[in-house]
Amino acid sequence: MADDPGCLFCRIAAGEIASRQVHADDTVVAFHDIAPRAPTHILIIPRVHIRSAAELTDDDAPIVGHLFAVAAVLARTQGIADAGYRVVTNVGRGGGQTVDHLHLHLMGGRPMTWPPG
Ligand code: AMP
Ligand code: ZN
Repeated sequence: MADDPGCLFCRIAAGEIASRQVHADDTVVAFHDIAPRAPTHILIIPRVHIRSAAELTDDDAPIVGHLFAVAAVLARTQGIADAGYRVVTNVGRGGGQTVDHLHLHLMGGRPMTWPPG
């Protein structure tokens, strides 16, 4: 069952809404972004509902560590690691966040410009 039944990403994590999943374990789920902004664009989310990085505390360190570890593994298995890639999380509307459930964007397969818009 979804951690927060009103949250899109909780429902994706629970399998209530379909996604193109590339990884799932007890703590995190990863799936292809529905509107990719790069040739490889994967979202990595915790199963637990955390609104954004702004809500994180030291207690969440194991979850955050695992999110990044999964990103590193997926970058290799998806073939974008050698060229380089980006891992980013948007916070709040002004930061570009549109879904209020913490997620890492794993993006690669093209040169990533800096700074992002
Ligand atoms: P953000 O704007 O940082 O909150 O990122 C939310 C991301 O979720 C966007 O890149 C959307 O394209 C993506 N997204 C929204 N709905 C879905 C969905 N049903 N399945 C996969 N990705 C989604
Ligand atoms: Zn959620």
